[in-house]
This record gives sequence, C-alpha cells and structure tokens, in this order.
Amino acid sequence: MSDGDAHPSSAFATAVGAASGKTAATTEPAIVFDRVGVSYGRGRKTTVALTDFTLRVAAGETVALLGPSGSGKSTALKALAGFVRPTSGAVRLAGRDVTDLSPAKRGIGVVVQSYALFPHMRVHDNVAFGLKAHRVPRKDIAGRVAEALEMVGMAAYAKRLPRELSGGQQQRVAIARALAIRPKVLLLDEPLAALDAQLRQSMLGELQELRKALPDTAMLYVTHDQAEALALADRIAVMRNARLVDIDTAENLWRRPPSDFTAAFLGGANLVPCTVNRVSGTSALVTAGSFTLRAEAPDVGPGGWHVDAPGLLCVRPHTVRIGATSERDAVRGTVVSSVWRGASTRLQLAVTGLTDVITADVPGHLDTEVGAIVGVRLPDPAGVLIPPTPGAETIGAAETSATHEPGVPQ
Ligand code: ADP
Ligand code: MG
Repeated sequence: MSDGDAHPSSAFATAVGAASGKTAATTEPAIVFDRVGVSYGRGRKTTVALTDFTLRVAAGETVALLGPSGSGKSTALKALAGFVRPTSGAVRLAGRDVTDLSPAKRGIGVVVQSYALFPHMRVHDNVAFGLKAHRVPRKDIAGRVAEALEMVGMAAYAKRLPRELSGGQQQRVAIARALAIRPKVLLLDEPLAALDAQLRQSMLGELQELRKALPDTAMLYVTHDQAEALALADRIAVMRNARLVDIDTAENLWRRPPSDFTAAFLGGANLVPCTVNRVSGTSALVTAGSFTLRAEAPDVGPGGWHVDAPGLLCVRPHTVRIGATSERDAVRGTVVSSVWRGASTRLQLAVTGLTDVITADVPGHLDTEVGAIVGVRLPDPAGVLIPPTPGAETIGAAETSATHEPGVPQ
C-alpha cells in the first residue's frame, strides 16, 4: 500500500477541517499523483502526454517540475487542477480523491504563463472573480481582494485595467487572484516565461518572499528554466517524454546526478564515456580515452558499481581549467569554438586523447581563436560517475544544454 492512500477517517477529518477553516491534523501529503496517465485524442492520433506519473508534495513544500518543452509538465498540472481528466490513476489533495471533482471545487490556486486576466475587468474585479466563484460571502470580498493585492505589492493598482499594466504587474495580479481564495495548493505554470530577463530575476526574488509568507501552502512550480527551479524548489522533479525521470533535492540532483539526462539538463554536463577500473568507497578510478582519472562514485545501493563496465563521467563545464600547455597536469586541447557569454566564455575543446569534444566555461572574456592550442586541466576528482540507465537511448541534441550543441563536431 502506498502511503498516499487515504484512510477514510483521516480524509473525513481533512474535509471537516477545511470546511470549518481549521487546520486538520493529517499526515496525508497535500498533493498526491498516483500513477497518473494522460492521453490526448483517440486512435491513431493519440498523444501520450503523461505516463505512470507518481509524485507526493507535502504541505508547505515547493516542488519544481523541470523538463524540456513537451515533456508533460503542464499536463501534470492540468490533471491536478482538473482541466484534463486522467486516463488512468488518481490525484488526491490532503488524502481526498479529487480525480472526478470539478476544478472550482478543488480549491486550488492556478497561475499560468499568459496571465489570463479578463481584459474588460479592473484589477479589483479580476481578483474578486475567483472569490465569487468560490462563494465567499459578499461582505468579505473587498477585504480579501485588498489582502491578496497587498501580498504582491499591487494594492495601489486596484482600479486599473489589465492593459494599463506592464507584463510583470499583470502577472502579480494573476498571482493575487490565485492567492485570494487562500488555497492550500498553488500551481504555477511557467509564470515568468513571458517576462524579460531582468524582470524575471526580480520576480523570482518576490516569489521567494511569497513562498516564505505561505509556509503551509504546497506549491507545484512548472518551468523549463533550471535557474528558477534551483531558486524556488525544495525538490526538483525532472521530466522527460511524459515521465518523471528523477526527483530529489536540487543539491543531490546537481552533485550526484542519478541519470545522464538530469546531469545534462540540470547545470549542463560533459558526459565522458569511460570504463570503471576500481572502486573504493565513494572514489573510483576510470579510464576515459587515453586517460586514467579519479572520479566520485556515489553510493548507488546494492550491486554498486561494476568494474570493467562502461560508464559515464559527468564533468561540469565550470570545473575545467584552461591555461598554458606547459602547466603541470595540462593536456593539449584545440579550441573548436569560443562564445563569450558575459560573465564567462564557453569553449568547445577537442582534447588529445578523448573522443568527445569537451565544454569548458571559463570566467570572464577569454580571447582565444578557433584552432588555438591551449592547456586543459580537469579537476581531481574529474567528476562524478552517472549510474547507467537500463535500455536508455542517447539524449537528443534539442533536450540538452549547450554540451552537445548542434553543429559542433562531436
Ligand atoms: P510541457 O508543459 O512539458 O511543455 P505539455 O504537457 O503541454 O508539455 O504537453 C505534453 C505533450 O502533450 C506534448 O506532446 C503536447 O504536444 C501534447 N499535448 C498537450 N496538450 C494537448 C492537447 N490539448 N491536445 C493534444 N495534444 C496535447
Ligand atoms: Mg507547458
């Protein structure tokens, strides 16, 4: 039995508690996806958008759904909000099965990328709309609207129409509208994606503040931007091809990626094919091309790492050092491409003795020309071993960070 299964009496306690406005003592997670599958269309036109999706989010926890476009993130959110009906499985809120409940009865706050404000309604009425739909007594509405607008710093704009607001302000109003119903569950679907980079950064800070102001609210935050996921989430659920591939704290996913996909998607990675020679504790010696390198070998449970088995070594681009070829431990690398990115320069390097091109992010503006020979030093340990994924296909170029950029010789 899964721990998300509702015990009848505790589900009842939750329902009574919610109705009376009191906090119910419950151990049920705020959100449960229980083996949810969603398909769109029928027959030959069927798209499987979500497969066997299981996830639990505790009250007060923020989980980011991170993955490339089309991986099923929005579909998961819609299944929870009630905008699409799961083809299989169930969704539960605080232990209560809501799979067949209408969206309005779920009491979930939802914020989407496109704001979705009513253009002819003033800010106040946009925020009040959800309250009326939730049958909040008339006399309470003005106070609740003011409270919600205050939370997002928009109290002074109540009389404006959406078109009289900037994109960032419209999104704040959309967040206020979601918060006005005092939801226990808040869903945000790429809420910052339509904003420019600078505004996105400041809104990210505001969302962090908001999160602190709502310590009991469970949040599910959909994004394809790892920076947002890292900044906001207690845990990150990585999605790919309609499935959840990995879930853990950001730090664990980053330091010890459980799969090549997560290594590349979260932070960018050189995935260097290697052979494991020897493992001692959490340290390994591996052969990569003509090099013997030390690698971190995280505890992967029973079975451990197989000696002589092929593996992948995750070498983070920012850990690769560039200098003179005469430096100690330096190997020769030819610059294949060099792109200045402001705070750093991204180099693609053909390293003598390695088959794949290595990506290096070096601080500042590095003046190197394509074809130049540089000294390349890998850190020690060179990186972390990635557990092999049984039957995994290789990662498509479109899904990865710049490590495998199309057009760059591999
Ligand atoms: P994401 O939010 O990760 O970009 P979505 O959940 O929107 O992904 O989509 C997952 C898959 O389902 C995609 O292949 C998408 O084209 C498809 N899809 C999404 N919505 C619909 C729909 N209403 N009808 C048919 N296919 C859809
Ligand atoms: Mg989406």
